[in-house]
Amino acid sequence: MEAKVKTLQRCLNGIYKVIRTANDTLCAISKPSVCSEVLLSPQGTAYFSGVTEVYRVAKRVEGGMKTLSISNETLQHSLRDIEIIWNNLQAFLSFSPSMLRMLPAESTLDCSAVTASGNAQNETCGVCLLRTPNEPNDLNDTENSVLHNGCRYHASCANFWLNCVDSSLPGLIAPKENSETLDLEGLTVLGSNSLDTGPADLTVSTAH
Ligand SMILES: [Zn+2]
Repeated sequence: MEAKVKTLQRCLNGIYKVIRTANDTLCAISKPSVCSEVLLSPQGTAYFSGVTEVYRVAKRVEGGMKTLSISNETLQHSLRDIEIIWNNLQAFLSFSPSMLRMLPAESTLDCSAVTASGNAQNETCGVCLLRTPNEPNDLNDTENSVLHNGCRYHASCANFWLNCVDSSLPGLIAPKENSETLDLEGLTVLGSNSLDTGPADLTVSTAH
């Protein structure tokens, strides 16, 4: 569980940074006309639709936390911070009507319904911990899922993680069989893969 919390924390920190940067960028523009020009440019539109995707990852993390009944004060705090900075950013985005249309409706962001039909481990996204879509009628079926090293991810979760958090995806899911005896092995995999144990840390620990 601790490893999951750690991954979610890294994820939320990354999300906050992305939205914060977008917000700061627009804050720095003093003229509304320039602001809407930025938002209407093809690069601006692509950039902010990417930021919107990242915000969706945060909402999925929120859903994943509900599913797994993870109640962690720090994570909740990060989610609140993201909500505040996102609301700020939305105010800027409203300068541009086309951007406003691109913003996801509140109802499409609610991931709590996804939890209803269970959360089998091998179908769970390694980043947000929410079930990935693999049924035709899935509520989330607009979102593609990808498979990497035996672990499933929402395409946008994986994309966000690789671009903004780490060059290797978190492998949260323990092997399906013998999960009890494989605990140590699982931890080793996590350590070298995704958690804060970088190559530098490993060098330090062998020197002692
Ligand atoms: Zn995901």
